[in-house]
Amino acid sequence: MTHNPANMVLPRSGIGIDVHAFAPEDDPQPLWLGGLFWEGEQGLSGHSDGDCVAHAAADALFSACGIGDLGTHFGTDRPEFAGASGVKLLGEAARIVRAAGFEIGNVAVQFVANRPKFGPRREESQRVLSDAAGAPVSVTATTSDGLGFTGRGEGISAVATALVYPLAGHEAAASGPGPAKGAPHG
Ligand SMILES: [Zn+2]
Repeated sequence: MTHNPANMVLPRSGIGIDVHAFAPEDDPQPLWLGGLFWEGEQGLSGHSDGDCVAHAAADALFSACGIGDLGTHFGTDRPEFAGASGVKLLGEAARIVRAAGFEIGNVAVQFVANRPKFGPRREESQRVLSDAAGAPVSVTATTSDGLGFTGRGEGISAVATALVYPLAGHEAAASGPGPAKGAPHG
């Protein structure tokens, strides 16, 4: 049985997953991951910069608010975001979330990949993403012990969770989740 006194603001959690394949050798791309450019590393394919860490973070924010996903907000009706950087998308996602009546508690992202070696640049990545979101974004990295597409070096996957707080008295946040229409994105 749930009990929620009227003066209690409950946080909402969200989840987001994003995957991008490495670009083929005959069409190499620069690697953008966690809001950073990784010189000399094999890049990811996609219509955007393929930054699955930033994309998963943005998706988790939308999920937490119940206002759809990346495809909902950056689909074909927002052509100005076609090919936008992951950092730009995350910044716009945070703006949309706040406009919908939520404040962001934090976002946590973990990506699965053999490369790049993330530890030395973790702080830098977290700073760039936190600046974009206007809230703490933490990033961790792991491998899949050689298993699956990440283990075979075919791509990178990222999963994110987000915590948001509905702002008191804000109608949009109080009205609950809106319609979610999933759509693929680049
Ligand atoms: Zn993506």
